[in-house]
Amino acid sequence: VTVQDCLFCKIVTGDVPATVVRESARTLAFRDINPQAPTHVLVIPKDHHPTIAALAKTDAELLAELVREAHAVAAGDGVDESGYRVVFNTGSGAGQTVFHVHAHVLGGRGLGWPPG
Ligand code: AMP
Ligand code: ZN
Repeated sequence: VTVQDCLFCKIVTGDVPATVVRESARTLAFRDINPQAPTHVLVIPKDHHPTIAALAKTDAELLAELVREAHAVAAGDGVDESGYRVVFNTGSGAGQTVFHVHAHVLGGRGLGWPPG
């Protein structure tokens, strides 16, 4: 189901272009347009769910698939051994700007903790 005016639904349908790095039946992974690390990929479900909390409630197996796909993206970019970070910004106060749930996969540089 495409939600009108959702940017990431438009990437799923191809109406907005993206650099796709990986795809499964139910997920899509593409490079962030404004990368914060050498590897910065977004992994999304093709179906529209606004947040990780909504997805966990509705389809926990799809959430698990997002995590498996995030790992596969990291392995594909060769950062699974050096380490990578998976971030789900949730809510505008946490910086979520696109309300179609997405895992940020970050790697390829030193990632301090706590994040700056
Ligand atoms: P968030 O702030 O967690 O909602 O993350 C949204 C992310 O989407 C940001 O890191 C943006 O750089 C990224 N973004 C926005 N538009 C696009 C686009 N057309 N293609 C790829 N990434 C995008
Ligand atoms: Zn959407």
